[in-house]
Amino acid sequence: MASTLRLILGDQLNTKHSWFGSVDNEVSYVMMEIRQETDYVTHHIQKIIAFFASMRNFRDWLKERGHRVDYLTLDDPENHQDLSKNIHRFLKEGKYERFEYLLPDEYRLDQQLGKLCSSLDIETQGFDSEHFLTTRDDLAELFGDKKYLMETFYRHIRKQNNWLMEDGKPTGGRWNYDKENRKALPKGKEVVKPREFRHDVKEIVELLQSEGVSTIGEIDTEQFIWPLDRSECLTLLRFFFSECFADYGRYQDAMHTDHWSLFHSRISFALNSKMLSPREVVDKAIAYYEDHDEVDLAAVEGFIRQIIGWREFMRGVYWTKMPQYAKSNKLNHRRKLPEFYWTGKTKMNCLKHAICQSLQQAYAHHIQRLMVTGNFALLAGVHPDKVDEWYLGIYIDAIEWVEITNTRGMSQFADGGIFATKPYVSSANYINKMSNYCSSCHYSHKEKVDNTPCPFNSLYWHFLDRHRQKFEDNQRMRMMYSLLDKMDAAERRNIIKQAEKYLRNLDNL
Ligand SMILES: Cc1cc2nc3c(=O)[nH]c(=O)nc-3n(C[C@H](O)[C@H](O)[C@H](O)COP(=O)(O)OP(=O)(O)OC[C@H]3O[C@@H](n4cnc5c(N)ncnc54)[C@H](O)[C@@H]3O)c2cc1C
Ligand code: SF4
Repeated sequence: MASTLRLILGDQLNTKHSWFGSVDNEVSYVMMEIRQETDYVTHHIQKIIAFFASMRNFRDWLKERGHRVDYLTLDDPENHQDLSKNIHRFLKEGKYERFEYLLPDEYRLDQQLGKLCSSLDIETQGFDSEHFLTTRDDLAELFGDKKYLMETFYRHIRKQNNWLMEDGKPTGGRWNYDKENRKALPKGKEVVKPREFRHDVKEIVELLQSEGVSTIGEIDTEQFIWPLDRSECLTLLRFFFSECFADYGRYQDAMHTDHWSLFHSRISFALNSKMLSPREVVDKAIAYYEDHDEVDLAAVEGFIRQIIGWREFMRGVYWTKMPQYAKSNKLNHRRKLPEFYWTGKTKMNCLKHAICQSLQQAYAHHIQRLMVTGNFALLAGVHPDKVDEWYLGIYIDAIEWVEITNTRGMSQFADGGIFATKPYVSSANYINKMSNYCSSCHYSHKEKVDNTPCPFNSLYWHFLDRHRQKFEDNQRMRMMYSLLDKMDAAERRNIIKQAEKYLRNLDNL
């Protein structure tokens, strides 16, 4: 009989963790599929399938190496469907003397495990998940009372790890190649077909159906495209390097009706489930850049910035600001999310594409999330709770620590600007510049009030007008306020009227 029970959560599938280096007969692992996790929000069906199938593969991997594992499937009659209740049962039945777990990345699970441990009369211990580059508290320690700036954090991590550094200075003499990375996709530019896997996932889909789990989105049960074990995650990463990396930076912000992931890596699920580690991804990216002339410095810098900058930074913000972060609504937005976010049925071509592909693939790339769905929700004044619920459910990579910071913080300015220097709002101008959406849209991207005017245009000025007090002194928004002020009074009135008409009629746009 083993004396220690160790819990592995669904996003802790880290084969490189020191726990798994050798077999200890005193240790038994437990993993579980539970309603607590399938039901805390309505998830995309592909998200639940990806997690459950990867957990099952991880269980098999552990067993093949001789580890002892108990795995509760969703339909197991002994499954209480609650993390704490299941652990209590395992501890009692197995007469364990010790309970160990890997520190969770979600606040709610951290609280739950903390509470569970204090209710137990055996020894308990939480271990580092050995995934992130920084600890939960590093960001707060680095900034103290100062404003959290991603750029400062990013440079700190680069220096600390000597990534793209020469003699203490950034390789190439600059830290940031963002300006080179803002190109629309030129006509005729070839885009490689995304690497997709072909998994048969019927069994788990039927399980979800028979257990009555509510989901959103579509799925091809015989050709499930996402990677489900470490080896497939590495295949996806290699595909990114050989086929997409050279164009990644340049077209990072581009959007196109024919290409749902363009040159993006699509490794967010692999990273967030911990099948890949950020350190190995960055090391491999830099090694690939050094060996391949076609990958320039702007591409590699742009890529690692997302992982060691944004991803790690967001985790720091999360652990510093939770739980109050989850309630923040500094712009006091109250509207409900338009119905078309759940169906894609809208005449706005950009939203139709971003939403329909999210429902089909459980994926949209960053600019679609930020400048299409996020931008519209912010301009329309949707309650951040409703925006959060949508983002947390719909994406394959959505785990609260990285979803909520991106949604409330980066996209909705609901935290009042803890790290964002201004709200990410734009009119149709930006969407038209970065995509081909507008050319086949019902609305006219050039118009504000006449001839089926694009809703983004009047809503943009309405946003600036209604939040004048908050933003007119912001250096980065001065120019826009001065344009608003220079507008002819009648034109301004008409734009505001048009926006209000649209706001009353959001579901029908
Ligand atoms: C409103 C909104 C919600 C988001 N929700 C999530 C979420 O739930 N889960 C999630 O992982 N990302 C989220 N992001 C960040 C980003 O959009 C996704 O990480 C990215 O689109 C995943 O696709 P990719 O792997 O092809 O990314 P790539 O463009 O290839 O980037 C490589 C990696 O960098 C990381 N990364 C890039 N941007 C960010 C970012 N802003 N924050 C954190 N990591 C980043 C991801 O791990 C990503 O896999 C959100 C962004 C916005 C604007
Ligand atoms: S015209 Fe407006 S609604 Fe239509 S695609 Fe362009 S930005 Fe979107």
